[in-house]
Amino acid sequence: MPPVSTSNPQQPAAPRQDPPPCPASTATPAMRQYLEQKAAVPDALLLFRMGDFYETFFDDAKTIARVLGLTLTARDRNSENPIPLAGVPYHAIDGYVARLVRAGFKVAISEQMEDPRLAKGVVKREIVRIITPGTLTDERLLDEKSANWLAAVFADDAPARRGAKRSMTQTAEIGLAAVELSSGRFFAQMLPAARLVDELARLRPAELLIPERDIDAVDAWSSDLHAALGIPVTPRGAHWFDAHESQRVLCKQLGVASLAGFGFETVDGSLRAAGALIQYVQETQKAALRHIASIEARHDGDFLAIDSSTLRALEVERTARDGSRDGSLLAAVDRTVTTMGARRLRDWLCFPLRDVAAVRRRQDAIEDLRQDRTGLARLRDLLREIRDIERITARLGLGRANPRDLLSLGQSIASFRPLRELLCDAPAAALGGAAPLLADAADSLAGLDPLAEYLDKSLREDAPPVTRDGGFVRAGFNPELDRLQSLEQDGQRWLAEYQAAEAARSGITSLKVGFNQVFGYYIEVTNTHKDKVPPNYVRKQTVRNAERYITDELKRHETDVLTSKERAVRLEIELFDQICRRAFDELAKLQRAADAVANLDVLAGLAELSMQRGYCRPAFVESADAPDKKSKRAAALLEIDDGRHPVLEQTLAEKFVPNDTHLGPDAGRVFIITGPNMAGKSTYIRQTALLVLLAHTGSWVPARSMRLAPADRIFARVGAADELARGHSTFMVEMVETARILNSASAASLVILDEIGRGTSTFDGLALAWALTEHLARRIGCRTLFATHYHELTELATSCPGVVNYNVAVQESRRADGIPSDIVFLHRIVPGGTDKSYGIHVARMAGIPPSVVARSVEVLAELEQSFAAESRRVSGAPAEPDQPTLFPAAPPPPAWWQALSDEIRRIDVDATTPIDALNTLRDIQTRLRES
Ligand code: ADP
Repeated sequence: MPPVSTSNPQQPAAPRQDPPPCPASTATPAMRQYLEQKAAVPDALLLFRMGDFYETFFDDAKTIARVLGLTLTARDRNSENPIPLAGVPYHAIDGYVARLVRAGFKVAISEQMEDPRLAKGVVKREIVRIITPGTLTDERLLDEKSANWLAAVFADDAPARRGAKRSMTQTAEIGLAAVELSSGRFFAQMLPAARLVDELARLRPAELLIPERDIDAVDAWSSDLHAALGIPVTPRGAHWFDAHESQRVLCKQLGVASLAGFGFETVDGSLRAAGALIQYVQETQKAALRHIASIEARHDGDFLAIDSSTLRALEVERTARDGSRDGSLLAAVDRTVTTMGARRLRDWLCFPLRDVAAVRRRQDAIEDLRQDRTGLARLRDLLREIRDIERITARLGLGRANPRDLLSLGQSIASFRPLRELLCDAPAAALGGAAPLLADAADSLAGLDPLAEYLDKSLREDAPPVTRDGGFVRAGFNPELDRLQSLEQDGQRWLAEYQAAEAARSGITSLKVGFNQVFGYYIEVTNTHKDKVPPNYVRKQTVRNAERYITDELKRHETDVLTSKERAVRLEIELFDQICRRAFDELAKLQRAADAVANLDVLAGLAELSMQRGYCRPAFVESADAPDKKSKRAAALLEIDDGRHPVLEQTLAEKFVPNDTHLGPDAGRVFIITGPNMAGKSTYIRQTALLVLLAHTGSWVPARSMRLAPADRIFARVGAADELARGHSTFMVEMVETARILNSASAASLVILDEIGRGTSTFDGLALAWALTEHLARRIGCRTLFATHYHELTELATSCPGVVNYNVAVQESRRADGIPSDIVFLHRIVPGGTDKSYGIHVARMAGIPPSVVARSVEVLAELEQSFAAESRRVSGAPAEPDQPTLFPAAPPPPAWWQALSDEIRRIDVDATTPIDALNTLRDIQTRLRES
């Protein structure tokens, strides 16, 4: 077992083993066995089965006593070195394990491998499973709406890094792999190291393996990751990432001779990470992993790049304020009816597609589903009947399915036939197969009817979740079982009759036949009737107020009853194996079907949403990748008519004011949006980003119409509340994120910026915001929406091509004292800039006392006057008294400069050769010297 990183204080410290006070040589045999096993799993809490309890000792005992609130006792209490001991009853183990794992611990379970009554010497025990946060499969431990990924990373350039002691994130490319044990999904991809944290942020694995040889980097890195994402990090020995071994392990797991068939040409870092994952899962699960049967080769460009701060700022899956799902985009658009669909929708939103053809396939499916409302409702009703067959199938693959799982599986696949009929043969053909995704789904649901019938025949509807006590095989499925069960029932009937007959014979009305593990069946007579006990009763036990007896007759029947019951349960367990094997044979089909159900549910949910809320189908205009100049310009296209914020429009209903967004080569690529606080600037820019994101998931969007050139990335730089809480300076965080945008945005990206530069002095902030906008407009040319307080930025519209001003309309009337009295935020985005901030008005609305409001009106007037005077002094020109300006007006440029700049502007750079460019430059130099 690998060590858990203890480097992060937020991660539960790995249980430290006390030096055993009893040397192994003098310990009892069971204790020696315990110590040996504990040595193999030093970082897990070892739960050691002893009879009816799972016991823990030493520090583990102290830990579980503390975490689970159990009593800490001691073994060999009277000896010199009593051993701390705490245990949990065997039947309640699942609940306790759940709490320990949720608290961040790893738990190893050591079982008795033989019947203690038959054991010679110490009972044979084995660690049967190690449960870690990333390897959960139990329903109770998993969140039904979230995936539970186990991820691993590996950087490929070991020698270089070892020499230079660089950290993992400084290498150019890094391998990432992730497996979800609870579904069997498995993928690997190489990606730029700088993007790793972002990729992990949207994958949100439950546990991350990293090679131990990066231990230099581990401390800093794991606490960074933990702080950023809260992921527990498990360092693993470098040998687990060995290229050769990884390839061997993967080929064996996937049953292939080469991984080329999955799209992997060489054993790169991602496959080495994948190999490490499989070995970790094998080591912890100690079970067959038949459901992990393929690996997807992902590529860096498959999905829209969304970094972690954008994901947070856009509140894609949870709100920035309190991290809850309510209020997020995911919650607003989720109309799924199965847990598989809910998880898949999260996937689609966090990993929007870049391949427009794939997006259109989803759109087509939604379009088809919208054609027939009744059909869609029926489809969703059928989906509602389907349980989590993805996770049940995974448990089947791990050999951990229980009777109730298989019962649910059978009941779920019974819905497949009507689902398929609806998709393929609907008389109106409205839902019928036109869209390839729907036809594929219908195909994937085929071929499982015999299994559904078999499960229906074999399992009782009230099947319990454990096999231990039987009671799940349907009558009529197996004649021998029926025979044993009727014997047992006859026996039970006989016992009831015997009790009645004995009561009548002896005249003891309260006489009862009971059962316990020690004596088996007995007759209990209360002390008040002691004198009436017949002579053939043999006394066995005295309890409070009663005596217990046996008779020869009773014992004879006991054997019949008990053996038939025992044999029936044993047979049921054997039959269950057989039933599992039958279902296991269909593993691949079941996985395909689960996948299809998840997709269908998401598509049907989105179709329903689009109708409920009047969404439209976005049209992609594809030319972004073509090299010619015209298409480069077209990459800036983004036209939304009457767009609405998908979350806010649901809360505000008809009060929400829709807005247009027309970005494009002609309409301008960079919007500077000014307006007072609370006017709706942030809402507007986020809404635009959310619509682009939704469009790339294949969903329809809340707007009257939408046309867009495909995007490659979305960047959102808004607010920095969370970072502040972590002690970073707002400004630093802002600049780091802004730097990232400037370094990685392309012409096809969408950038939304809210109040950049606020964390520093006004002039610094304004200057930075100014230069940033120029860079985005001139160099990158990407679609940009910039909401700002700096109304000075509106001047950029005159000097910088592509920059356009918008503001949020406000209706105002003024009082005599100069404070705007009635302000109505119209929430409508209109062309043009504004320099009105209405800060004082907003303060009044917020309940700032009138005296403070009145005083601030006075101070504002003084400030405005002194700014005006200062501006006049610097520029030598009279400034407008009520328009303070931070950039004093410059004198007009001379005519020769005007002519020259016009000439430079006219140069078509794309059509100029380097030689021509040099000649032009020389010509300009000469003219400058002469002027
Ligand atoms: P700003 O960024 O300009 O300070 P916000 O975007 O935060 O303003 O919006 C402030 C509030 O105004 C929102 O919480 C919302 O209640 C309301 N609002 C914003 N946009 C709209 C809209 N389009 N229609 C109706 N109400 C809106």
